[in-house]
Parts: sequence; C-alpha cells; structure tokens
Amino acid sequence: MKYEAVIGLEVHAQLQTNTKIFCRCETRFGEEANTRTCPVCIGMPGVLPMLNKKAVEYIVKTGLATHCTVSPYSRFARKNYFYPDLPKGYQISQYELPVCERGYVEIVVDGKIKRIGLTRIHLEEDAGKNLHQAESGASLVDLNRAGTPLMEIVSEPDIRTAEEASEYLKKLRSILRYIEVSDADMEKGNFRCDANVSIRPVGSTEFGTRAEVKNVNSFKYVQKALEYEIKRQAQILDEGGKVIQETRLFDSSKGVTFSMRSKEEAHDYRYFPEPDLVPIVVAKETVAEIAKTIPELPDAKRDRFVKDYGVPEYDADMLTQSRALAAYFEESVRLSGQPKVVSNWMMGELMRLLNGEGKEIEDCPIRPDRLAGMIKMINDGVISTKIAKTVFEEMYKTGKDAETVVQEQGLVQVSDSGAIEQIIADVIKANPSQAADYKAGKEKLFGFFVGQVMKASKGKANPDLVNQLLKKKLSE
Ligand code: ADP
Ligand code: MG
Ligand code: ZN
Repeated sequence: MKYEAVIGLEVHAQLQTNTKIFCRCETRFGEEANTRTCPVCIGMPGVLPMLNKKAVEYIVKTGLATHCTVSPYSRFARKNYFYPDLPKGYQISQYELPVCERGYVEIVVDGKIKRIGLTRIHLEEDAGKNLHQAESGASLVDLNRAGTPLMEIVSEPDIRTAEEASEYLKKLRSILRYIEVSDADMEKGNFRCDANVSIRPVGSTEFGTRAEVKNVNSFKYVQKALEYEIKRQAQILDEGGKVIQETRLFDSSKGVTFSMRSKEEAHDYRYFPEPDLVPIVVAKETVAEIAKTIPELPDAKRDRFVKDYGVPEYDADMLTQSRALAAYFEESVRLSGQPKVVSNWMMGELMRLLNGEGKEIEDCPIRPDRLAGMIKMINDGVISTKIAKTVFEEMYKTGKDAETVVQEQGLVQVSDSGAIEQIIADVIKANPSQAADYKAGKEKLFGFFVGQVMKASKGKANPDLVNQLLKKKLSE
C-alpha cells in the first residue's frame, strides 16, 4: 500500500441519567411511543429548558478520565436544521465553548502504547425517531428519545488504520463503562460513531480530502466501512481522480459505502448562543469532588498488571477491558499465584467460549476458584495442559469443578513410565518403516511418534515423559 489512512472519529454516547437533559421526562426506552414526553422535549413554544446537573457531572467525569481540560465556563448553542424528529427546528448543542477540550485516550498497537488525541467533548440533546411504515407509506414520529442527554466525543485525526479505530472505540467504551456514565452499547444505539477518513501518500504530511461515514452501528462494521472506504479512495487516486468531500453511508449487507450528500449540499447550521440557558460554570471544588469518584481506570490498571504480574502489554490491555474481567483475573491470580498461566487461560479458552455464546465474564460458569483449582491439578501433574482443555470445556458446560470432571471422565494423566513404555513399544512395532527412517537420520519423524503415542493414550500420557522415553526407545 503506497497510501496511509488518516482517520478521526466522532462518537455520540448517551449518558445514563434517569431523566432527560432539559426536562424531567424519563430516559427509559422501549415504552409506548410519545409517552415519555412533555412540552419541553416536544418543543412547544414558550417553555424553558432546565439543565440536568447529573449530565454535567457525567461529562466532567468523562473529561477527567480522558485527560481533558475541563472548562470552568462553557455554554450551549443552537444548531439549526429542519427535520421531523426535531420539533423545535434546532438542537441544543455546544459550539465554540464545549465543557471539555484537549484530552487523549491510549490504545495498544503492535504491543506499543499509542495516544489518540481528543479535540473536545461537548453536551447535546438527542432527537426523536422517525418510523417509516412500509405498508401505508406514512412516517410516524416518536419523541421519547428527544432530549436524551448525549456527549459528543471528537477525536483528532490521529488514527491510521481501521484496526486502530476499532481499538480506540473499545478503549473509549471501556472508560465510559468504568466510570459508569454510559452503557456505551453500540448495538443498542447508545454509542454511535461517525468516521472521517482520508488517505495520503506514505511520507506526506498534508491531509487529503475526507469522506465522513455516518452512523455505523457495530464495531465490526466500523472496521469494514473504513477498510472499504480506504480502498475506494486509493482506487480513485490510482486512476488519477480526486476524492471529493462528502457524507457517505455504510450498507452493511453489501459491505460498501455510498454517497449521501456532497459538501455543496451540506447543512449550514447557523449556530448561535442558546438564549434560554445560562452558561455552565463548573467550580474547581466541584471538579475535585468528581475526581474523587473516579476508580482506577483501564490504562492505569493495564500498567499495573504489566508491572505487578509480568503479563505482556497486549494481554494486560485485554484483561482490563472491563472491571469485572480485571477483577476475575486478580482473584484467580490471588488463588493460584500464577498470573501468566491465568492470563493464558483467560485470553485463550475462556474468551473463546464466552465469545462463542456472546457472553460476558459476569455470566461465566467457571468462577476464579474453579479456574485456580484446575491450574493446581496441572501443577500437581494430575492432568496435562492438553487434557486440561477438555476439562475446562466440560467445567464450562456443566458448571462442575475440575476434580469432579477429571474423576467422572477418567481424565487423569498417565505418568506411569511402565504403561507409557508399553504404548511406545506398540507404536514402534506398528510403524516399522518410520522407525527405520528415523534411525537412518530422518529426525523430523520424532513428532509423528509423539503424536501416535499421545493418540494411543487418548491424550492422557504425560507429554514430558513421552518425549523422554521415546528418545530413549527410538535410539536403542
Ligand atoms: P465536522 O464538524 O464537519 O464534522 P470537524 O472539523 O469537527 O468537522 O472534524 C470532524 C472529525 O474529522 C474530527 O474527528 C477530525 O479529527 C476529523 N478530520 C478532520 N480532517 C480530517 C482529514 N483530512 N482526514 C480524516 N479525518 C479528518
Ligand atoms: Mg462531523
Ligand atoms: Zn420532557
């Protein structure tokens, strides 16, 4: 690839307040249409908005957790546009004076830490929802979502690959969840992302013209949409063409992006200061109070895991994705005393089984004490690491502990050299030509014999012992 991508993301995260940002309506969804509304959030004339204090607290918390400067003075602005889900004809947002500015989020790329800058984080209200009826051809408007508090988190164009974009989103999601300000669930629509992407020749320092891909609704799709867009733009440049600045949409069924509107058709939002709301003033003492409520964050936890437990950066980053996952790790380490082994099981088998069912660590049927119990059986030589995989899967399926599974299924490791020698003798006898070839110098065949012996023992033979005894037997 002779091009490098430049990516900046705009994320809208819904704040988990009980009530809306400028009125007292509940933010609960899934209710009957237009039952969580009042004159304020349906935009009746003559009403006044009142700011929800919790929303300010949450955005300040987010700013502190992402190394932003929290502005002591900020204000709201009106963003004007016409759309049926926006009855006021303007969205209350922030423009030139956002609550938070100049922060960063750390991601791990190729085992190294990379900082992605944050330009700003501001508060705004969500719009309602248009529901298009296929049969009647009519469109209905549900305003239950109108006035739900959102944070818009704008990144610097510091992201270089689709994978980095995905890592950035994951880190942002985990920070928001750690500090409990948002569910940050993309599938549920409370964590939405617009992706800005341009490309430039490798080595160039100027930015190319960007396209903005709107509302991609899963991590996988963000990555796919970006990969597609990077290829599309590269092809245009290769053919001597020019990328035009436009807004595009992602079609997840076809895996392509397509044009929604060009720069010429872009809205002029005619921003101006919101006259119905006083400026937001956040006192130093308030910031200090909020800072006290922030727990150990993913990056600090990651660094501590690397330092205290000696696990690699990448693993530590994965293990600290959620507080529950990190707590599971630390409890298992406390009980087993073996951080690296615990990490390997969690990163490998455990994640595989959980991901396979779309489950979170909270739903994991194997609790830390059970994992530690199984690790102890490996250490004591009762089961081999290989058998342990079977045991682990069975523990996961049945919820039983390792000892019960091993006993019920007769999975105890064979460490009796007599028994193993017998199997080896049988295997050599059954494969005379391979044995002769090995003796004649074809050493690669050793692996073949190990495999045969393990198979004959149904995976139960102690692998170290098999290696040792095979070497001896084959050189006789
Ligand atoms: P807008 O208000 O039109 O969305 P912004 O200046 O706020 O424009 O930028 C939005 C996002 O686009 C930011 O995340 C920023 O990092 C990103 N961005 C800006 N220029 C480029 C570029 N040339 N290539 C890729 N991303 C860009
Ligand atoms: Mg934008
Ligand atoms: Zn309301």
